[in-house]
Amino acid sequence: MNDRLPVVIVGGGLAGALAAVRMAQRRPDLPLLLIEAGAAIGGNHTWSFFDSDVPAPARDLIAALNPVRWPRHSVRFQALARDFDAPYNAFRAEALDRLVRATLTPQQLRFNTPVERLEADGVVLAGGERIAARAVIDARGPQGAVPALELGWQKFVGIEFAASVPDPQRAMVMDATMPQIDGYRFVYVLPLAADRVLVEDTYYADGPALDVEIVSERVRTLAAERGIAGAELRRESGVLPILIGGDPQAFWPAGDPVARLGLAGGFFHATTGYSLRLALLLAEELSTLPGRLEGPQLAAWSRQRFLWHWHDMGFFRMLNRMLFRAAAPDQRHRIFAHFYRLGEDRIARFYAGEPTLGDKLRILSGKPPVGIAAALKALIRR
Ligand SMILES: Cc1cc2nc3c(=O)[nH]c(=O)nc-3n(C[C@H](O)[C@H](O)[C@H](O)COP(=O)(O)OP(=O)(O)OC[C@H]3O[C@@H](n4cnc5c(N)ncnc54)[C@H](O)[C@@H]3O)c2cc1C
Repeated sequence: MNDRLPVVIVGGGLAGALAAVRMAQRRPDLPLLLIEAGAAIGGNHTWSFFDSDVPAPARDLIAALNPVRWPRHSVRFQALARDFDAPYNAFRAEALDRLVRATLTPQQLRFNTPVERLEADGVVLAGGERIAARAVIDARGPQGAVPALELGWQKFVGIEFAASVPDPQRAMVMDATMPQIDGYRFVYVLPLAADRVLVEDTYYADGPALDVEIVSERVRTLAAERGIAGAELRRESGVLPILIGGDPQAFWPAGDPVARLGLAGGFFHATTGYSLRLALLLAEELSTLPGRLEGPQLAAWSRQRFLWHWHDMGFFRMLNRMLFRAAAPDQRHRIFAHFYRLGEDRIARFYAGEPTLGDKLRILSGKPPVGIAAALKALIRR
């Protein structure tokens, strides 16, 4: 192996960028190249998280992104309103872009460079150029519907308004007191600054189709109902996979010579579709692996890591089967309302994807929010 060949990360989104930053900081001995199809890092995203989503070793990385922080957050359902004194945070893609450019050298970054083919020992760019690599990491993000996986969808459109809200210290993370259409529906309200508010209309739906214009109109209505009016500053939308079941071996066959990170590697929370915590964890783990990080080592590590993650997500896939297969779409809100009766610590561990056995039993206890027969049918059908 030529020692000057780089580890090539394809995709400067959340996972690829965080991994590249950590590699540049912790493994300056290893050549590194981050290749991004777009003109900037991170695309058009606002990423949000609870403090408990951030693994302790990654706190400095998050601090470097200078997130907006709300001391409190709330949820609202028809029959339940809860306010939590626990903080919520968010950062924009621009912050990730700045961090990457401040940490990597210009020689370690290529923008506007779509990769056409990923191979064990190199990548082929859209223009035909080939770059040889010691290892290749696929961090190209979501792949849409994947035959090996049974998926539901979390989809949303958010609009940022030049407006203010009465309590800018509070993030509304889930307000489901609205007509339920296309599955479980809620609105998310983040006062990003004294004069900017992000309002997002979200659906847990059976299909991935999202009409951004129609949902944008609904966002405007939701905003107006909440007294939020002002010029529209920007818009973002997403269609995130929610994992119900599938075949991990078919999704990621043994012997695949290319390592993966982020959504390309199935590294997302099966129920929330979120991936920040896993992206932080894997950036930490990758940058502290021993050795020269050659292709076969990285590919085997990342696949093994995926299989562990798949195992860890078993409980969430089971919940998702209840959510998507046992509950009628307009009744899905009852499952979330039931969940939000739990204690704060249990809720935090759920979002972090690390519930204890006690948490799991508690989540499944009490009067079930869906009919027993339908729930059993959904659980048996794999
Ligand atoms: C609008 C939005 C908001 C979200 N909010 C949250 C949140 O608050 N918290 C959370 O945890 N999760 C959130 N998610 C879910 C998830 O965390 C994000 O989708 C996250 O960006 C996924 O990270 P990733 O690195 O796998 O993919 P991406 O961030 O999508 O990055 C993939 C990158 O690869 C590049 N790329 C693709 N193909 C090629 C190619 N052939 N060659 C070169 N480059 C290529 C793309 O341009 C892109 O930059 C959100 C998703 C969306 C869409």
